[in-house]
Amino acid sequence: MREWESNVRKVVPYVPGEQPKDQRAIKLNTNENPYPPSPMVEEALRELAAEPMRRYPDSAAQQLVDAIAKEQGVKPEQIFVGVGSDDVLALAFLTFFNSGKPILFPDITYSFYDVWADLFRIPYECPPLNDRFEIVKEDYYRENGGVIFPNPNAPTGVLMPLAEVEAIIAHNRKVIVIVDEAYIDFGGSSAVSLLEKYDNLLVVQTFSKSRSMAGMRIGYAVGNADLIRCLNDVKYSFNSYSMNQTAITLGTAAALDHTYFEKTRQKIIATRERTKKEMAALGFRFADSQANFLFVTHESAQAGELLEALKEAGIYVRYFKRPRIENYLRITIGTDEEMDELLAFLRKYLKR
Ligand code: PMP
Repeated sequence: MREWESNVRKVVPYVPGEQPKDQRAIKLNTNENPYPPSPMVEEALRELAAEPMRRYPDSAAQQLVDAIAKEQGVKPEQIFVGVGSDDVLALAFLTFFNSGKPILFPDITYSFYDVWADLFRIPYECPPLNDRFEIVKEDYYRENGGVIFPNPNAPTGVLMPLAEVEAIIAHNRKVIVIVDEAYIDFGGSSAVSLLEKYDNLLVVQTFSKSRSMAGMRIGYAVGNADLIRCLNDVKYSFNSYSMNQTAITLGTAAALDHTYFEKTRQKIIATRERTKKEMAALGFRFADSQANFLFVTHESAQAGELLEALKEAGIYVRYFKRPRIENYLRITIGTDEEMDELLAFLRKYLKR
């Protein structure tokens, strides 16, 4: 071993979903939105010029913060923005999970949480979901260094009722509870409504899914002004200019177009509900997802093999080789036409 090697921070990195080079691929593997961003984003993009790029962006991203605050019905001091919610979540781990006690998150959940915990050397414990893939709230009523879970959960799509989310927050007043709401716009009520009651709550959302802007990398946290100040102190100790000016400008345009947001999210919800019926008719089993994906299994199809067969046909879905879910596939809800192609393939595949 070379001498410097013992001082390298070793990590097992998160593996993002594949971005196929073939533009004709049907991409149902990374929970992107099949519809383009708001036309207001397109318009704002046309008005962008190169000259202002010689300057640093506004480090507070105030325009964007104000637009999100307006949409969420909170004060601008309650919003923290970052480079996708991954950036916001990573900074939140670094900022709030420092007690040395294990933080808690479910055994089946977003597979970045254990990576950040390992990276920052935060101990963690993972209470198992029950057999219906639900979070058991009582498992979180014990001494811990903080709590994080997605709602709806990923990759299961299962939504926890807001009353249960509140019960977990109420039982954990001594630590920060982060509710990762990457998929909340596709079903369910946001925990933002609980912020007035609980100063230990941080809600994290993203422009990547319901706002169709995964490529722009915009995420945000909503919390009380003290928590947001703590996050900003850490951000300014790391990278003051995390948000680039283009993301700030285009994100602001997206945040202000509430009508378009409503229209596209309703379209995805309608396609999801129709897809559920057709998948059930084909014999797939899945929890009643409230997200923009279904997490499915089939008695007579092995998930790994189906994944490869789908890929061969140009249809990309996501597979996690992890305990309890190795026979499941996560399928993003695309357009109606994309789902029809998927269903046609599955019909043929199951008849083999
Ligand atoms: N949280 C969850 C539960 C997710 O599935 C994702 C998407 N991979 C993210 C956060 C991060 O999304 P982004 O960084 O694009 O906002």
